[in-house]
Amino acid sequence: MSLAESVAARLRSPEFDSWMAGAARTGYCSNPVRLSGSSSTLHPGTGEVLSEFSSTSQPDGLTYTRCGNRRSRRCESCSHEYKGDTWHMIMAGAAGGMKGVPERIAEHPMVFVTLTAPSFGTVHSTSRSRIHGTCEHGRPRGCRCGHEPGDLLLGDPMCDDCYDYEAHIVWQYFAPELWRRFTIQLRRSLAHELGLTQRAAAEIVRVQFAKVAEFQRRGAVHFHAIIRLDGVSLDEEFPAAPREVTEVHLSAAIRSAVRLVAYAAPPLTSGAEPRTLRWGAQIDVQPIVRRDGLDGTLSDRAVAAYIAKYATKATEDLDGGVGARMHIRRLKEISTRMGETGDADGPYALLPKWAHMLGFRGHFSSKSRRYSVTLGSLRGARQRWRLDRIVERAQSDGHDVEEVLVIGSWSFAGMGWRSDGDRSLATEAARAAREWRDGRRVRFEDEKGEKDAQRN
Ligand SMILES: [Zn+2]
Ligand SMILES: [Zn+2]
Ligand SMILES: [Zn+2]
Repeated sequence: MSLAESVAARLRSPEFDSWMAGAARTGYCSNPVRLSGSSSTLHPGTGEVLSEFSSTSQPDGLTYTRCGNRRSRRCESCSHEYKGDTWHMIMAGAAGGMKGVPERIAEHPMVFVTLTAPSFGTVHSTSRSRIHGTCEHGRPRGCRCGHEPGDLLLGDPMCDDCYDYEAHIVWQYFAPELWRRFTIQLRRSLAHELGLTQRAAAEIVRVQFAKVAEFQRRGAVHFHAIIRLDGVSLDEEFPAAPREVTEVHLSAAIRSAVRLVAYAAPPLTSGAEPRTLRWGAQIDVQPIVRRDGLDGTLSDRAVAAYIAKYATKATEDLDGGVGARMHIRRLKEISTRMGETGDADGPYALLPKWAHMLGFRGHFSSKSRRYSVTLGSLRGARQRWRLDRIVERAQSDGHDVEEVLVIGSWSFAGMGWRSDGDRSLATEAARAAREWRDGRRVRFEDEKGEKDAQRN
């Protein structure tokens, strides 16, 4: 059956409306889980059946649930929902005024930090280098092209033979450890800036952060983070820091922590020299102010929106997912080779598993425990919201209930839509839904983002 015939068959089927409603319930997921079975909603006290749902009443005897994949190439719809969650988590911690985080959180000392990887060799860039001459392989040492943003050559090494691929991969592999050490050093450096012992500082001020990793064109990760100072209190969840502690102390502590942190990465083969890893010299620390940023300053909302944008960005964006860039392909190949040629039970044995991430094995977004709400609690709130609708419906049907009990028995019937036609219809619907929703989203974010969370 051709795609057109397959689409037509679904469009003509008497169950079309019902099928479409089922697809809408998955958010038009591109690879949903097919289930067969049934569930009942019960009154928790009496056990009375309030409503029943069975896949046998559905088209093809199946019901669908979304795949939940966070990578946009796998599922545009589900990765979009995840981005929404991350956006709210990060925004709540920076601007407050939602999800139980008070609005005055935006008055806490807060900065936006970018930490970079060091150089592993000269790459093509947007600025013209003044370095002349050629390397021992006869290639120019500096890029004098001055590339346009978006140029495919950007981030590619001037010379593949000079570029230190091994150093790049080792750094990337241990970047999460470097970040962890940075957060520990930051607390020490902050105490030093305040002229206190670490213990005394910990009694009045706490460091909170949310960070995201972003791949640069050269295939090295950057970390962008919102770092905030809170006070210490037993009765308040987001206490303010003492007034004497300012963003000036925080910025100075960050700069000194970045300079001081080092990690001796184990050698590839036992007996060789360890490699000392540090942050790159390019570091950016900017205060976040609670204004609209009209005067050119960085506003809380602008930063949160910017940082959340990267939450699902992966290496597939670097080469279009087709391996078109030799530099990216080489990073993957060398990661695999380094893992396979090193000691079998050595620290790099798992490196091939992370070759597709160019050796990076960290999370794309993470936060300190008290930065804001958790992704889990947002999901929980959303689920509760759905349950609340069921309760409301039951109440409007004359049932006296506060809570309901859902009992189900489902079995797995496969992955994905059943035909090319179904998949194509779901994809089209997803696109239409997204355009509509993005339009709404912009307005809601301006207004607070509160309703938007429920809508998703
Ligand atoms: Zn999906
Ligand atoms: Zn160039
Ligand atoms: Zn060279």
